[in-house]
Amino acid sequence: MTPQQTSATTDPRLTSPQRAVGTTVFGGTELARHLRTRVTGAAAALTAQGTQPRLAVVVATEDESSAWYVRSIARAAARTGIQCEVVDLGAEAGPWQIRARLAALSADPAVHGIMLQTPLPPGVHFEELASAIAPEKDVDGANPLSLGRLAAGLPAFAPATAAAVLALLDHHDVPLAGHDTVVVGRSNVVGKPVAQLLLQRDATVTVCHRHTKDLAALTRPADVLVVAAGRMGLITADHVKPGAVVVDVGTNPTVDGGLAGDVDAAGVEGRAGGLTPVPGGVGPVTTALLLRHTVRSAARGHDV
Ligand code: NAP
Repeated sequence: MTPQQTSATTDPRLTSPQRAVGTTVFGGTELARHLRTRVTGAAAALTAQGTQPRLAVVVATEDESSAWYVRSIARAAARTGIQCEVVDLGAEAGPWQIRARLAALSADPAVHGIMLQTPLPPGVHFEELASAIAPEKDVDGANPLSLGRLAAGLPAFAPATAAAVLALLDHHDVPLAGHDTVVVGRSNVVGKPVAQLLLQRDATVTVCHRHTKDLAALTRPADVLVVAAGRMGLITADHVKPGAVVVDVGTNPTVDGGLAGDVDAAGVEGRAGGLTPVPGGVGPVTTALLLRHTVRSAARGHDV
């Protein structure tokens, strides 16, 4: 592990919270590469035993950024030896049509992972439909049953993005047990499962959302701050304790066609102890973990 550093630091991070430090870039590309290598090995072993791991991605939108994401999943799957079937039902698809397809894929023994892509057509409720995904194939933790099992401490696939947050923190050796962590955002796909995963690791967890009265007052004591609000620049230096580790899950399109996170990266530079970049932080790890979940699902009953 050789984290890029933006300035010289002995990486005191959580141990000296009041000291201003250089900010370590907690990139995700190296971790993603490592995960994909392991997935490739496991997929090859499974295929040699007659089970080619297969991921189905159900799409019911013409949204361009969604199409880009699905293409990137399909490319990554192909590179790791996982078959990726994109089931495009069109933006006019009704709830029953989507539900029926999810149920059919759940019953298909050749399919090991199922993902329901967002956005969905207006009036279609994501969680209602995702409940049609068999929990053992729910590789992106979309079925409410998966979130419930996660909350109960039972085995379940966490949403890949939430799992990626924890994987990045672990990869960069960020201690969690007994530390104060704050999650900004409470969606079922990111904020809530991240909070559950942090609780499982014995962190003290505070969850903030749009009705939180004084966001900075709550985020400032955090040793670890995870931001998943979808609001560009929401988190400034004023929200961050010196030395804190900040995970920026947000992906917001910029005017020049790029991507920016929820954290004002330039503003927190030199104040945060660690910061995940956007792009190149949580995103690549998310895709790699989606593939890992698919291989794990395919590996049930196999000796790999
Ligand atoms: P979401 O469903 O829109 O949820 C956003 C959450 O942030 C909500 O809980 C909302 O509060 C809260 N929030 C919004 N504005 C806030 C503010 N000003 N102060 C405090 N809380 C605020 O979004 P999501 O699906 O969780 O995604 C969040 C971000 O992560 C988006 O930018 C998305 O693109 C990105 N994302 C990235 C990846 C990846 O792989 N890198 C994957 C998934 C999502 P309320 O509940 O009160 O409305």
